[in-house]
Amino acid sequence: MITTVDRVITILQEISNKVSTRYEKMALIRMSSLLTSLKRCYYCNNESSSNIIAFLLKLCLEIMFQLKYFKDKYDKDLEDNFIRELSKRSRKGSSFSIRMLTESKGIPGKYKKDFLKIYLKICSYVHPSYEFLLSEQQKINVDNLLLEFLDVLLYVLLTCYGPEGRTCDICREHGLKHCLRKCSRAIS
Ligand SMILES: [Zn+2]
Repeated sequence: MITTVDRVITILQEISNKVSTRYEKMALIRMSSLLTSLKRCYYCNNESSSNIIAFLLKLCLEIMFQLKYFKDKYDKDLEDNFIRELSKRSRKGSSFSIRMLTESKGIPGKYKKDFLKIYLKICSYVHPSYEFLLSEQQKINVDNLLLEFLDVLLYVLLTCYGPEGRTCDICREHGLKHCLRKCSRAIS
């Protein structure tokens, strides 16, 4: 699993070298750093390491959906526009909102529902939720959560930056069901 995370980190870093705006570059670099931190937590087998992992996954997905939102809304060369909106949103505490996911363009409604479910599942380990406070099963199945996370992340990444062979290799190897649909369509 960690070698897969490594491959995703490399893909994110490579895309970050190709994008034209500083915001996109930084967003991609931040995501790759969060995944690098995740690798460190992966082997610490204590009770809160899985919560830290969930936190890193949550932040990473929020960066991804925010990036998709700004890319859909503004043209590539309008960096000023999304920086202005982002700084305004940050002041109001809405740098990420669930609408960035639910109203995301070019993703089928059924998928958005599934993605929201996965996002909320990750959030339930980060908030003082029922699962976190009262569930008997305290420890998260990190591998399962990571696969669901990767399915969403890679799907949205491909939506933003087009089909990419190595990304699809990862989704095929792990049978990431949503992303698999995207990759098989891109190739046929
Ligand atoms: Zn795929």
